[in-house]
Parts: sequence; C-alpha cells; structure tokens
Amino acid sequence: RIELNGIRKSFDATEVLGGIDLTIENGDFLSLVGPSGCGKSTLLRIIAGLEPQSAGQVTIDGSIVDGIRPSARNLAMVFQSYALYPHLSAFDNMAVPLRMRRLSTVERLPLLGSLLPGRRREERIIRADIDKVAAQLEISHLLQRKPAQLSGGQRQRVAVGRAMVRQPEAFLFDEPLSNLDAKLRVHMRAELAELHRSLRSTFIYVTHDQAEAMTMSSRLAVMIGGELVQVGRPAEIYDNPRDVRVAEFVGSPK
Ligand code: ATP
Ligand code: MG
Repeated sequence: RIELNGIRKSFDATEVLGGIDLTIENGDFLSLVGPSGCGKSTLLRIIAGLEPQSAGQVTIDGSIVDGIRPSARNLAMVFQSYALYPHLSAFDNMAVPLRMRRLSTVERLPLLGSLLPGRRREERIIRADIDKVAAQLEISHLLQRKPAQLSGGQRQRVAVGRAMVRQPEAFLFDEPLSNLDAKLRVHMRAELAELHRSLRSTFIYVTHDQAEAMTMSSRLAVMIGGELVQVGRPAEIYDNPRDVRVAEFVGSPK
C-alpha cells in the first residue's frame, strides 16, 4: 500500500504539484493520466525517490520513506526510453539490480570477488531467477543479445523483466509504450494487463493515452495542472466526470 499525503513540489518558484493525496492499494492497477506538463512524471519520480518533494509524505506499507534511497524502496521503475545499458546483453541488463542487491562491496570487485566461494552460488541463483522471468515474458531466446539487436517491443520486455527480477513491492511505469508503433502498443497493452493479473502486484502507470488508461486500469487518477481532479474506476469517471476538463480528457459523451 502506497500513501501520498499532501505532496507538493516546486521547481525554483514554480509550483508543479499542489498537494497530492492518494492511496494506492496492493494489487491496484492505477493509471495516472492528464495533459502534458501536468506533473505526472514528477509525482512518479517522487514516489520512486528519484526526486525529493517540497512538502508532504510518501508512505509505503506503513513506513514513511522520506530520505530513503530509491533502491531501498523496493519499487521498480520502467521508463519510456527503457534505459537499458547498450553495452550489456539482455541477460546482464536484467542481472544489474540482482547483482547490486546481492553482492557486497568486495564481491562487486571483479578480481577479488571471483576468488570468493559465495560468488558462484550467487550467480547460479541470479541465472535461475532471470530464466524464470524470461520464460514468463517469452524472451528466453533473446538473453544474449544487446539492446541494439532487439526490436522495440523486445527491449520493452527486457526492461519489464529487469523490473520483475527484483520482485518489487510495486511497478512504476512512465509511458512505457509511447515509443512503440500503434500495433505493437495495442499488443503490449494486452501483455501488461496479463502481467498484472499474473503477478497480482501493484502497478502505477503514467500515460497520456486515454484509451490505454481506460482499458487496462482498475483505478484512474486524473491530474490537471498539478492537482488530482478525480480518482475512481474508469467507468465511473467516464460516466460521471467531475468537470468539463475531465470529460474532455476521458472522452465522455457531451
Ligand atoms: P508529459 O506528459 O509531457 O510527460 P508530465 O505530466 O509528466 O508531462 P512533468 O514532467 O511532471 O509533466 O513536469 C511537470 C512540470 O514541471 C512541467 O511544467 C515541467 O516543465 C516542470 N519540470 C519538470 N522537471 C523539471 C525540472 N527538473 N526543473 C524545472 N522544471 C521541471
Ligand atoms: Mg512525463
């Protein structure tokens, strides 16, 4: 469960988030939607710990996480640009968070680390974890390829796989499909919805594609100009938009 209380954010003198209150229950697929520049990515980055808020609190499973670094929040972030390391294979990309987490400082040193007896065992565990996730995402045959040798959709799946191997508390997606062509986007949409069903994990999904948000999410949060204007089930909001801006955004009939 992720709770946001009175989250505010200013860059210099400009306020971009004006006091956000929102609770995301375990297992929710919450889509955060709204026009460009309304503050969606900023809010996601604050939840992830990549950006400090100016005021307010983020609580994850009952603990306030202010000042806790991103990797210790146990959330996985999947970005629009995938952010895969170009020089590493798909396998090694997926292994990055596992190696970071499992290995101590000494073990991370290539020479000294290889002399330690625990290292090989750790690598076996990492391989088993990655193989399992890769099978689920149907990318087992692609693990030795570098990102440049993969299609957009395959890269996308490697990025999701890298997020999955950590077994995070929640997944934070920031427009992960916006670089894909329309056909692949529709396909990946179905895959993400399926992934959510099978993992039963919490998804927070930022998009400005309203069709994407309406079809995949269990809850919709509509943000305009740094404020949450309406939160509810997609059908509820579509049928009863709070105001004309929301109606326009979710495409309610006039
Ligand atoms: P989009 O749909 O285009 O991705 P968004 O809703 O994700 O938009 P944000 O990226 O959260 O919007 O940006 C919200 C506002 O904050 C924008 O006006 C943006 O220009 C501003 N902003 C974001 N990051 C910074 C920064 N590091 N410094 C100054 N202003 C910023
Ligand atoms: Mg954004």
